[in-house]
Amino acid sequence: MIALDYPEFYFLNQQNMNRPAFLLLTLLIAGCATAQEITDPKVTEVWEPVPAKVTPGVFPNSPPSDAIILFDGKDLSQWHKSALGYGGSMPEVKAVIEKYGTVTKYENAGWDVIDGAMVVKPGAGPIETKQSFGDCQLHIEWLAPVDPGKEGQGYSNSGVFLMSNYEIQVLNSYDTQTYSNGQAGAMYKQSIPLVNASRPPGEWQTYDIVFMAPRFADDGKLLKPASITAFHNGVLIQNHFELQGPCIYIGKPYYIPHPDKLPLILQDHGNRVRFRNIWIREL
Ligand code: MG
Repeated sequence: MIALDYPEFYFLNQQNMNRPAFLLLTLLIAGCATAQEITDPKVTEVWEPVPAKVTPGVFPNSPPSDAIILFDGKDLSQWHKSALGYGGSMPEVKAVIEKYGTVTKYENAGWDVIDGAMVVKPGAGPIETKQSFGDCQLHIEWLAPVDPGKEGQGYSNSGVFLMSNYEIQVLNSYDTQTYSNGQAGAMYKQSIPLVNASRPPGEWQTYDIVFMAPRFADDGKLLKPASITAFHNGVLIQNHFELQGPCIYIGKPYYIPHPDKLPLILQDHGNRVRFRNIWIREL
């Protein structure tokens, strides 16, 4: 195409060839140019598949029509006490993972429901969803109650364990200090939040999370690590962070193959943290 627009090239070729040969060459060049440069806008239109129609929530943060409601302020019917919990070190993680699928009886979630919120009951243990999830979009709201005298990891500590193993920290990080990779919004001991978007204790806060489960080959080899993108009160705090393995308290994490879907766990760390408006969309 460029050659055809170039007068000298045109002139030279026209002079050195007979007319039919020149016309043929011109058509060939034009054909090649058409293959490379699409001029019809319809060629790049994709009509299938048609995305499923979803009705957005009426209010900001309210669940869209295709969300699974995990807690709507009424009861803990979507939850039970976590029988296996989570590991604090890799040997503990390994022991827990080895027991997946063996639990046959669960106790009720022992947390309180007060004024439309589920409240951690210290000593009742972590709770987990009855349903298991892999790739997901999660919305969860939490509140660190005002608790003068508390500080650091002791001030409203809880946690959201995606797939029972990957913890985004819940903590009052508004006016007390702790290690950065353990503050609110951290992927515990792996990823410091990009900013501290915390609200003061006593105010409701939101996490909006996109989590992608790790992928394992049949022989257990890691094909793709888990990743998380998270917003804290609408502010981006984790930008497609790729986890190094489960979020553990002691030691360095690594991957141990586990099922494609696992329950969501909420942590009992001995503090009366509250949760509400929890919904999830499977991806
Ligand atoms: Mg925690």
